[in-house]
Amino acid sequence: LAKEVGKNNYQFFTKELDEKNTKKMRLERELHKALERNQFQLHYQPQLDIHSGRILGVEALIRWKHPELGTISPSDFIPLAEETGLIVPIGNWVLKTACRQNKEWQNAGFPPVRVSVNVSMRQFTQLNFVDHVKEALEQSGLSSEWLDIEITESMTLEGDIFHSALLKLKELNIHVSMDDFGTGYSSLSSLRHFPINKLKIDQTFVKKLDETNKAIVTMIVTLAKNLNMNVIAEGVETTEQAAFLKGMNCNEAQGYLFAKPMPAQKMADFFSRTFTVTY
Ligand code: C2E
Ligand code: MG
Ligand code: MG
Ligand code: MG
Repeated sequence: LAKEVGKNNYQFFTKELDEKNTKKMRLERELHKALERNQFQLHYQPQLDIHSGRILGVEALIRWKHPELGTISPSDFIPLAEETGLIVPIGNWVLKTACRQNKEWQNAGFPPVRVSVNVSMRQFTQLNFVDHVKEALEQSGLSSEWLDIEITESMTLEGDIFHSALLKLKELNIHVSMDDFGTGYSSLSSLRHFPINKLKIDQTFVKKLDETNKAIVTMIVTLAKNLNMNVIAEGVETTEQAAFLKGMNCNEAQGYLFAKPMPAQKMADFFSRTFTVTY
């Protein structure tokens, strides 16, 4: 009997695996066409000064509007884009679109904010990455001070290419933030050698503020201050979380409590109403 069950299980799992692979292959095929078919869209989520509620920036977050599967979230296709190398053209599209959109808001007369763009390791370590950034700024007419590049901790392992790209961004006066901070493996002492403007405390710490996570958040805020960096908490959903972060002297916050990511037009409507979020 055991043998029978084992056999059935085996068949069951291979069937599941086949379906998973078929789905992945379909997504990959369609991901190749998604750019030319205009299926990507950026949503924007405010980042604010935690003390005044003033909006200082917006993070650009990509969405894939699939004609049959609906909206696909980045966690479901960015890994595939990285694997296939498609992250490079897609990432360049994100850079251009975000810069152009930000310049349009400035042209419309809104107070200037910074736009944060997420960049994957595979994209950041392309030798001409910084050239693409320059091109996005030149084509849009956006001044470099209004662009922020979000990288993640795991990239620090990439060594020389990583370091020289960071230095070039600094020369261009472009902000750099370290996303999902606290989840990676960067050695804390290596941080001081990198020209990074801001640490983004990963949302897993903010979500469940037990004693351990409170200690971690406190440690990250202190580290940022000592290294002369700004610090932002992401994934803030409750007033209790916001109050704790404020008490900790964290500078900025981002999360559903203040505003969810929204399409460009909704963001413009939001700006028309206010630049200061009360909560
Ligand atoms: P991330 O950069 O850490 O972005 C934060 C994620 O948390 C976003 O998910 C955002 O919508 C979500 N979020 C914001 N506030 C809250 C909150 O209060 N509660 C909860 N539960 N979630 C919140 P999203 O948009 O699904 O993006 C997921 C990840 O995909 C991003 O994580 C980023 O790593 C990646 N990503 C998004 N856009 C791009 C892109 O254009 N290029 C690259 N390379 N990666 C991107
Ligand atoms: Mg991010
Ligand atoms: Mg993050
Ligand atoms: Mg993340």
